[in-house]
Amino acid sequence: MQIMIDQLEGIVGKAHVLQGAEVTDRHSPYSPDAYDAGLLVRPGSAEEVAAICALAHRSGVSLVPHGGVTGLVEGTASESGNIILGFERMNRILRVDPEQMILVAEAGASLESVIAAAADVRMMPGVDIPSRGSATLGGMTSTNAGGVRVLRYGMMRENILGLEAVLPDGTVLSSLNTLMKNNAGFDLKQLFIGSEGRLGLVTKVAIKLHPKPIQEETALVATDSFETLIRLLSRARQEIGADLLSFEAVWPEYYDITTSQPGFGARPLALGSGIFAVIETAQWSEGEESRLEPFLERAFEAGLLEDAALAKSDSERQAIWRAREDSDAVLQAFPFSLSFDIGFELKDMSPFAEELRAKLTEAHPELEQFFFGHMGDGNLHIMVGGPEGKRDERHKIEALIYETAGQYRGSTISAEHGIGFEKKAFLGTSRSEAEIALMQKLILTLGGGINDGKVV
Ligand SMILES: Cc1cc2nc3c(=O)[nH]c(=O)nc-3n(C[C@H](O)[C@H](O)[C@H](O)COP(=O)(O)OP(=O)(O)OC[C@H]3O[C@@H](n4cnc5c(N)ncnc54)[C@H](O)[C@@H]3O)c2cc1C
Repeated sequence: MQIMIDQLEGIVGKAHVLQGAEVTDRHSPYSPDAYDAGLLVRPGSAEEVAAICALAHRSGVSLVPHGGVTGLVEGTASESGNIILGFERMNRILRVDPEQMILVAEAGASLESVIAAAADVRMMPGVDIPSRGSATLGGMTSTNAGGVRVLRYGMMRENILGLEAVLPDGTVLSSLNTLMKNNAGFDLKQLFIGSEGRLGLVTKVAIKLHPKPIQEETALVATDSFETLIRLLSRARQEIGADLLSFEAVWPEYYDITTSQPGFGARPLALGSGIFAVIETAQWSEGEESRLEPFLERAFEAGLLEDAALAKSDSERQAIWRAREDSDAVLQAFPFSLSFDIGFELKDMSPFAEELRAKLTEAHPELEQFFFGHMGDGNLHIMVGGPEGKRDERHKIEALIYETAGQYRGSTISAEHGIGFEKKAFLGTSRSEAEIALMQKLILTLGGGINDGKVV
C-alpha cells in the first residue's frame, strides 16, 4: 500500500493524499460508511484524475468518487482497500454565457456556486435540490438528480449539454458539447448521467441555463384529500402553464415535524387538513400581474382548497420551503431512520401511501412515518424513524416497502436518488434480468473498478 501512496503523492502532491484519522474523522449524516476507506486523494485536474484511474486500474484497486456526499443511497460508502477520490479541489466555474444560456464548470462545483454564478447574469440552472449547499455538479450528474423544479425543467439529463469524463482505465473522454443540437454519432454523455460513477468519473459538465424569474410567488395550500390535490395540480398545469415551477406534496406528520423545529416561528397554516402542497410560480418582469393569487381564488371558488397562505415576503417564502425541505428534522429526531424515493403513476400514490401506512403500523408499530414528495413528478419520499434497536430490522422494513411498491404497475424503487449500496439487493424489483445484465456488460466493457465494492 505504501508504494501506492507514494505514487498517489507523485500525482497530486503530498498535501492532497489524506490518510487515517484525517479521513475517518470526517462524517456525513447521509452516508455513515463514506470515509471507512481511510484514504482520500484530492486531484486538481482531469489529467490527475486520469493518472489516478490508470494507477487504480493497473493495481486492481476500487475507486469511490465523492462529490458533496449528500447522496441518500450510500453510493459513497467505502471500505478498507478502496481509494476515495474527492472532487473538492475541482470546483471552478469555467464559463457563463448568458447569450447562449450555457454554464460550464468542474465536477466539484457546488450547486449553490452554480446558482450564484448564473444569478449574476439573471439566469439559473434548471435543477434545484434542497442539498444545494453541498451537492456538486458531478454528483448530480452521476445520480441524474431531480429536485423541486422537474415538472418545469426536467432532471439533470434534460439539462446537460455535454461533459468530460475519465474512463476507468484513465482515458479522458471529452464530450463537452455546448450546442443545442448535435447528432454527430452517439450521445456518449448519456453513459455517465445516472450511472453513479460505474462507467467513469465526470470531471466537467456543460449545462443549460434558463432565464431567472424576477420573482417567484409561493403558496402553501391545504386540501381535504390527495384526490383533490391531483385535481388542483391538473388545473394548475392548465391555467398557469409554463409559469408553474413547483408543485410539492406534504403530508401532515411531516409538516408537523418540520414546522416544530427550533426557530421555525408561526406555522404558515394550522395543522388539521388532509394534505398540504407547496406551489411556486414565476414572474418574469416588473409590474407583471400575479398568476398564483387569482389561481388560488378560482380554486377556492371551485371547492378545491381548504386554506392557503401566499408568501408576502422572502422570509415567508423561506418558511414555506423549510416546511417542505427540512427532512433533516426527521434524521435528528430519531436514533434510527430510513428514507425512500418511490416513483408512481399519480393515481397510485395515495393508495400506496395508505396501504403502506397500514402495513407498517401493523408490522412495526414503533416506527413513525413521514410522507412528502415531488407530486408533480409522481415521486413520493417516505421517511421512517424509530429507536436504535430497529436497525437490526432494516432489511425487513426495506423489503416491506419495496414489495408493496412493486405491486403497483410501473412503479420504481428509485425515482431520483439512484441505487447506491443501499438498494442493490432490490434492483430486480424495478428492472428486468436482461436490463441488469446489460448494465453489468457495460460496466465490464468500460473496465469496472469504480464504486464496485459496494454498488451494483
Ligand atoms: C436534504 C437533502 C435533500 C435532497 N433532495 C434531493 C432532491 O430533491 N432530488 C434529488 O435528486 N436528490 C436529492 N438529494 C440527494 C442528493 O443531494 C443528490 O443525489 C445529489 O445529486 C448528490 O450530489 P453529491 O455531490 O452530494 O454526490 P455524492 O453523494 O458525493 O455522490 C453521489 C454518487 O455519485 C458518485 N459521484 C460523485 N461525484 C462523481 C463524479 N464526479 N463522477 C462520477 N461519480 C461521482 C458517487 O460515488 C455516488 O455514487 C437530497 C439530499 C439531501 C441531503
